[in-house]
Amino acid sequence: MIDIAIIGAGPAGMSAAIYARRAGLSVTVFEGEMCGGQMAYTPEVENYPGFAHISGAELSFSMRHQMVSLGAELVEVPVTAVTAKGGYSVTAGGEVYTAKALIVANGAKRRKLGIPGEDAYGGRGVSYCAVCDGMFFKGKTVAVVGGGNTALEDALYLAGICEKVYLIHRRDTFRAQQLFVDKVQAAENIEILYSTVPTEVRGEARVNALCVQGADGERVLDVAAVFVAVGLSPENEMFAGLVELADGYIRAGDDTHTSRAGVFAAGDTRTKTLRQIITAAADGAMAATEAEKYVRTV
Ligand code: NAP
Repeated sequence: MIDIAIIGAGPAGMSAAIYARRAGLSVTVFEGEMCGGQMAYTPEVENYPGFAHISGAELSFSMRHQMVSLGAELVEVPVTAVTAKGGYSVTAGGEVYTAKALIVANGAKRRKLGIPGEDAYGGRGVSYCAVCDGMFFKGKTVAVVGGGNTALEDALYLAGICEKVYLIHRRDTFRAQQLFVDKVQAAENIEILYSTVPTEVRGEARVNALCVQGADGERVLDVAAVFVAVGLSPENEMFAGLVELADGYIRAGDDTHTSRAGVFAAGDTRTKTLRQIITAAADGAMAATEAEKYVRTV
């Protein structure tokens, strides 16, 4: 019987593991993709105290190293089922692990646009990760869709690699931090299309155009890739029978307590107002501390 099972190794899950190990508890962390989660795909992190500039991948690696060095067991396969029976049973890679407490820190996934051609050209020019795929389009013209921090950061990153970047946003003001807005507006090779929505991804073997609808009518942009950065959506179907959800997010306050004793939710997966690396890491610390109190009572 493990003391704490942690689902997800983003900043929330890794912070929880670090705190729980330092409290002397046994910890198993499950991660089905890459340690770091969304953080790993962030080109540059400039708002995590102590690091003026660090890549998301480097910060992810550093947290992973710290967690594993402290003795957290890392199981790098996706979790397929979770049940509450004599503790909490987590199924991953055909094995069943049982823990006294569970911390859900599975983050959220990139949302899709839902337009024709998006799925058909997935991996053939439609991408949800500029850091992962940007280099494939070196010297080419690409489009980024979205108006939040991710879209603007992606546009700036791609502007350093590509000949030209169209930044397509559905409103006439951005949601992103002003610092990013100032930078994209100043970039010579970023053309911003405000009040414009994408309507179709076109191509042959690979993407070669994006159709957009703006106030002045329809345009067909010649692009080699479309980077979609239109926000995140939770993936909590697996936990629906276990804890209360709200709009797909796990209902939990800043103390990370869910509707079920012994289950805690940390980071982007829970109902909260500010989704940042630092708030996810803070949640992890809180969840581990609350889980420790719970484990000591069962
Ligand atoms: P976000 O802040 O939710 O922004 C999503 C953007 O996509 C919005 O501009 C939204 O438009 C637009 N959008 C949504 N659905 C769309 C659709 N169907 N078609 C066209 N546009 C659509 O998401 P995010 O940028 O991925 O960021 C997620 C969270 O991570 C946020 O809390 C963000 O602050 C945080 N983050 C922080 C940093 C940082 O601090 N450096 C970096 C990255 C992410 P509207 O504006 O009209 O709603």
